[in-house]
Amino acid sequence: MSGGLRLVEHPLARHIVTHLRDKTTHPATYRTLTYQLSLLLAIEATRDLVTEEKRIETPLEPTSGRILAHTPLVVVPILRAGTGMLQPFLDMFPDVSVGYIGLERDHETAKARSYYCKLPPLEGRRVFVIDPMVATGGSASQAIQIVKDRGAADPKLVCIVVAPEGLELVGRTHPDVPIFAAALDRALNSRKYILPGLGDFGDRLYGT
Ligand code: URA
Repeated sequence: MSGGLRLVEHPLARHIVTHLRDKTTHPATYRTLTYQLSLLLAIEATRDLVTEEKRIETPLEPTSGRILAHTPLVVVPILRAGTGMLQPFLDMFPDVSVGYIGLERDHETAKARSYYCKLPPLEGRRVFVIDPMVATGGSASQAIQIVKDRGAADPKLVCIVVAPEGLELVGRTHPDVPIFAAALDRALNSRKYILPGLGDFGDRLYGT
């Protein structure tokens, strides 16, 4: 799979994004909508999973079908908001393990600094970095670099909203990495929030 933006424009995805943007949407509904949208994104991001033939018998006759080949998946949420997108990956894929990367802004360098990193083996696995809001792209780009350094050969980035600035940075630093998103928004404001965006994703998800 080559790099670049893959916008998921299913009508249901648009419907959910609009409700996520709506400031009157309460955290409980917000979490459900995030689950549903992340499921749609997870399905798109795993379109190239390998399948293998399996002989089975229906109640009526023998036949063959296709099942997922043994392909271990690793999902890596960027803390904290990324955890909101995790559950559909756990529910859908049998061979999944989870790594976590925590990044915070270093006030001296203005760059994202890793304060937590717990990753399973990544070599030979399909790795999905998940982060709902790719604003400047700094965290996403750094998280992708971390998983590459730990052996991920073709990681993918799965997000809900990406800003043009984030798309540019991730595209420039990791031109090989596909970015699955439900919306490409207009711009960042002076505080690096995405416009029109949906506010602080973690706060809205967890009611903080
Ligand atoms: N993170 C968020 O939660 N929201 C933004 O708009 C940008 C980064």
